Amino acid sequence: MAARVIDGKAVAAAVRERVKVDVAAYVEETGRVPALATVLVGEDPASEIYVRNKRRSCEEVGMRSVHHGIEAGIRQEELLDLVRQLGDDEEIDGILVQLPLPAHLDSDAVVQTLNPLKDVDGLTPANAGLLAHGTPGLVPCTPAGVMELLSHEGVELEGAEAVVVGRSKLVGIPVARLLLQANATVTVCHSRTHDLDATCRRADVLVAAVGVPRLLGAEAVKPGAIVIDVGMNRLEDGLSGDVDYEAAAEVAAAITPVPGGVGPMTIAMLLSNTLQAARLRATAG
Ligand code: NAP
Repeated sequence: MAARVIDGKAVAAAVRERVKVDVAAYVEETGRVPALATVLVGEDPASEIYVRNKRRSCEEVGMRSVHHGIEAGIRQEELLDLVRQLGDDEEIDGILVQLPLPAHLDSDAVVQTLNPLKDVDGLTPANAGLLAHGTPGLVPCTPAGVMELLSHEGVELEGAEAVVVGRSKLVGIPVARLLLQANATVTVCHSRTHDLDATCRRADVLVAAVGVPRLLGAEAVKPGAIVIDVGMNRLEDGLSGDVDYEAAAEVAAAITPVPGGVGPMTIAMLLSNTLQAARLRATAG
C-alpha cells in the first residue's frame, strides 16, 4: 500500500481540544455555558447511539446538552411547536434534530422551522443560501469536517481539480461549494454521470459521498490523488466506504479509512458549530 492514511480520529481529537479551549474562553467572557438541544423522535437504536455520543462529546468540551426524547407517534404540529420553542429559548444555542424521522413526519418542514442561528447541522435553506452566497454561516458538519481534514493534510486546493461524487444537500453540494470557495476547479458527479471512473481520474482531490459500498476502485483514482471517503455503508462484514480502500490506496497519495476517517470529524465539527452558534447569536442579537 502506497498511500498515507489520513487519521480522522487524531484530527477530530485536535478539533475537540481546540473547541474545549474556546468554550472555556467563551464561558469566562460571557458567564454562560453554551447549550445544545438534541431532539430524538422514536427509538431507532443507531440514532440513539449517535445522539448519546453527541451529547457526551458536548459535555466533554464543557458545553451543556439538553435532551428531548420524543415518542415515535408525535404529531407533525407538536414537533414543529417544540422546534419553534427551542428556537426562541434564550438558554439554547444549538438545535440538533436527529434524522431520519419516522415516516409520518415531514423532515423538510422540521428543518425549515429551525431557527437558522441555531441550525448546527447547517441544513436550513437560510444556511444553505449563505454558503451558496459565500457568506459565513453555519456549515453542515460532515462537509466542514472534510475541509478540516484537507487543511490538516496541507492539501493545496487553489487551482486543483476536485471531483465530488454525490450531490446531496447534506454532503455533496456543500462540499463542492466549500472546495469552490477554496479556489479548486470542481466537478460534481451523480447517478447520471457518464463514465464516472474517467471523470474521477481527473481529480487531484476526490471526495466520495455516494452510499454505494466500494463503488470507486483503483481505476477511478489518479496516481498521487488525495481521496476522501465520506461513505458509511453497513455491510454484514462491517462498515465500508464508497471507495475500495485497498485498491485505491495502491494509487493515491493519501486516503481516509472507513471507519476512522471522515466519521469522527462530523461530531467534532458539530461541537465547533455549537460554539459558533452561541457566538453568532450574541452578535446578532
Ligand atoms: P444521498 O442523499 O443518498 O446522496 C447520494 C448521492 O450519490 C446522490 O447525489 C446520488 O445521485 C449519488 N449516486 C448514487 N449512486 C450513484 C452512482 N452509482 N454513481 C454516481 N453517483 C451516485 O447520500 P448522502 O446523505 O449524501 O450520503 C452519502 C454517503 O455518505 C452515505 O454512505 C452516508 O452514510 C455517508 N455519510 C457519512 C457521514 C459521516 O459522518 N461520515 C455523514 C453523512 C453521510 P443522484 O443525485 O443522481 O441520485
